Amino acid sequence: SNKPVAPRRVLLKLSGEAFGGGAVGVDTTVVSRIASEIAAAVKHGVQVAIVVGGGNFFRGAQLSQAGIERSRGDYMGMLGTVMNCLALQDFLEQEGQATRVQTAITMGQVAEPYIPQKAIRHLEKGRVVIFGAGAGMPYFSTDTVSIQRALEIHCAEVLMGKNGVEGVYTADPHKDATAKMFTRLSYKRALVDNLAVMDAAALSMARDNNMRIRVFGLEKSDNVTKALQGEALGTLVCD
Ligand code: UDP
Repeated sequence: SNKPVAPRRVLLKLSGEAFGGGAVGVDTTVVSRIASEIAAAVKHGVQVAIVVGGGNFFRGAQLSQAGIERSRGDYMGMLGTVMNCLALQDFLEQEGQATRVQTAITMGQVAEPYIPQKAIRHLEKGRVVIFGAGAGMPYFSTDTVSIQRALEIHCAEVLMGKNGVEGVYTADPHKDATAKMFTRLSYKRALVDNLAVMDAAALSMARDNNMRIRVFGLEKSDNVTKALQGEALGTLVCD
């Protein structure tokens, strides 16, 4: 038939750990490489929305162990994600890729507020949209927000880029030589076996709403572009 084919729209989740390159702060070598891989996929027509974590700056749970009230620590964590968003935006724009940051905590000088309809319009115009400040609420995670945003702006799947692994395994591959990577994994097994995919709140939201999740390794060159374009890398988590 000559019906127009709907463009592929996906949500990429990047952990703060990836941005930090294992340290506190932003590793610009890593961020610029990821940005160029994202820009390449957008050139091929993929609509890319991104949720960025903040673990390279602060995690509320850790701050609370160190004596800061949990909610305040969580807000510090959310603000950390915004710095990662701005770094990624900068490198995307250096690639010539128009990019908008939308935050769940309003900060008009640095970003737009989160407005889902506007995010969709940006994507339709070929802009990358980066979502910052998580859900804007303590006790949530950027993993949970990834699923929620993907659902709200109608993404086909969530692509979880990980450091140090290529997918989800039967056991920790760094500790257990017999660990095997799943190419496909059910939500139920991921939840029941407590496999290292994402937190249970995020996973159960994905299961309840049938949002597919692909977990893949960020480090191999071109993996980000390949995942965005729909290559079957790593582990697919679905029904
Ligand atoms: N956070 C939060 N609410 C959210 C998202 C994030 O309170 O909706 C806080 C929380 O303290 C979290 C920190 O921000 O530890 C950084 O986010 P996350 O740990 O999800 O980042 P990642 O592990 O992906 O680097």
